[in-house]
Amino acid sequence: MGGLDEEEPPSKRIKPSSLQFCTNSNFFPQTHNLPLSTKPPNPSLEFGASMARPVPHPQALIGSKGFIKRDEFVRIITKALYSLGYERSGSILEEESGIQLHEPVIDLFRKQVLNGDWDGSIQTLHKIGLEQNIVKSAAFVILEHKFFELLENGNILDALKTLQAEISPLEVKKERVHALTGCILCPARFAELGFLGENCRVRVLEELQNIFPPSIMVPERRLEQLVEQALNVQKDACYFHNFKGKTLSLYMDHRCGKEQIPSRTTQVLDAHQDEVWYIQFSNNGKYLASASHDTTAIIWEVNADGQLSVKHKLTGHTQPVLMVSWSPDDQQILTCGMEESVRLWDTCSGRCLRVYEKAGLGLTSCGFFPNGKDIITGISDKSFSVWGPGWQGD
Ligand SMILES: [Zn+2]
Repeated sequence: MGGLDEEEPPSKRIKPSSLQFCTNSNFFPQTHNLPLSTKPPNPSLEFGASMARPVPHPQALIGSKGFIKRDEFVRIITKALYSLGYERSGSILEEESGIQLHEPVIDLFRKQVLNGDWDGSIQTLHKIGLEQNIVKSAAFVILEHKFFELLENGNILDALKTLQAEISPLEVKKERVHALTGCILCPARFAELGFLGENCRVRVLEELQNIFPPSIMVPERRLEQLVEQALNVQKDACYFHNFKGKTLSLYMDHRCGKEQIPSRTTQVLDAHQDEVWYIQFSNNGKYLASASHDTTAIIWEVNADGQLSVKHKLTGHTQPVLMVSWSPDDQQILTCGMEESVRLWDTCSGRCLRVYEKAGLGLTSCGFFPNGKDIITGISDKSFSVWGPGWQGD
């Protein structure tokens, strides 16, 4: 997340040209009843000066459905431009559209917060025209940070004064006030309370942004959020969605076609002599294993053209093979004969490495532990057996 310092440098927030422009009584944002078509072009505007077309009313509705407010639309684009680092473009858009990203009082407030002018920002806060509860919450955030910075600079008396004379009278977040008091005795608690020093003023501004109505301070990354919402809606509405990529194009609506759904036979595998009961690809996708009623399992190799060919036919079970299980590294594979035994095979050679059996009982399922060393088998007496390294038997 880019800091506000990078996104909107102080030089941008109070732009002499912008302020001068916007306080011009002939400029339509402050006099919306002016006939817009008669608004003279701004001669200082490098790009706009050559454009003779009238600028639409900022509160006009746009879009095919007519429910997008032009001024909101322009403001989130402006915000996005600044966030992307296109400061000149953002500034030009503000001037050309006559739609400011923020009122001058907000620009001043943001500048004061970033400069650590806490008393000035509290004064400006009261001039914004916010509801009293919002003013109190915002004042708490500002004064709390003032308190932290005073303590950080060793001004304990001033910090205490801020706590007693400014923060406590707000009568909000009493538990938090109590915690702040503890910081005087134990500065190590700063971090616990969210004061991290670096870029802290930027975070104060972000916190204030969450408190203020979005129409006063446009939320960060609002345009990106809206675009992401649109893409998610398109994905959710995609009936045959089968998209493996990470990014969707913004140039067209997303839609997966039917052709991406597997729907035609491309190969028939007939190496088994009886019903195939279980199939499983190896973890690396290079092999497929099949288990059959014909008492065999087959390891198939996936060829470059995607077609499958027999690599090894695993014979040795005396009962139908119920299932197979690949080792995590695909070097080995387990097969389970129905209520019979489990066999461990070497994938490369197709050689049987081990037969797992329980006297008087049959095995019914098998699997590797994620560590690739131990295996587990289900047994017909309702129990499981875990088999670890350590050779026993023949
Ligand atoms: Zn799709």
